Amino acid sequence: MAEGKFATSICCMDGRIQLPIINWIKENYSADFVDTVTEPGVDKIVAENQDLSYIKKKVDISINAHKSDLIVVSGHYDCAGNPVSNEEHLGHIKKSVDVIKSWNYDVTVVGIWINDKWSIEKIT
Ligand SMILES: [Zn+2]
Repeated sequence: MAEGKFATSICCMDGRIQLPIINWIKENYSADFVDTVTEPGVDKIVAENQDLSYIKKKVDISINAHKSDLIVVSGHYDCAGNPVSNEEHLGHIKKSVDVIKSWNYDVTVVGIWINDKWSIEKIT
């Protein structure tokens, strides 16, 4: 197995946000690698606590096999998968953090917003 510290990102599939998220996690949490679980508009999906087993299965691998100790869930500006107002996104992100915390992994859970400048704002 590769040496290094892993983190886990649960984010939209949107190509504009991948590098900003990965770079922010590497800089702020000294991670070497960021496992990325993507679904369009994932902040809404997790916030509504629908059937999340297909997402959780991927997160399980990141945490159990790669020993990730951080999950970052995000929403972003101009999201085609979840076309709601910025305020609603912030609500979805906060709710998503609560849902992920309820999965009871022994990891830090952080929520972030990718704004219209494609820069990261930490929400919770
Ligand atoms: Zn999106």
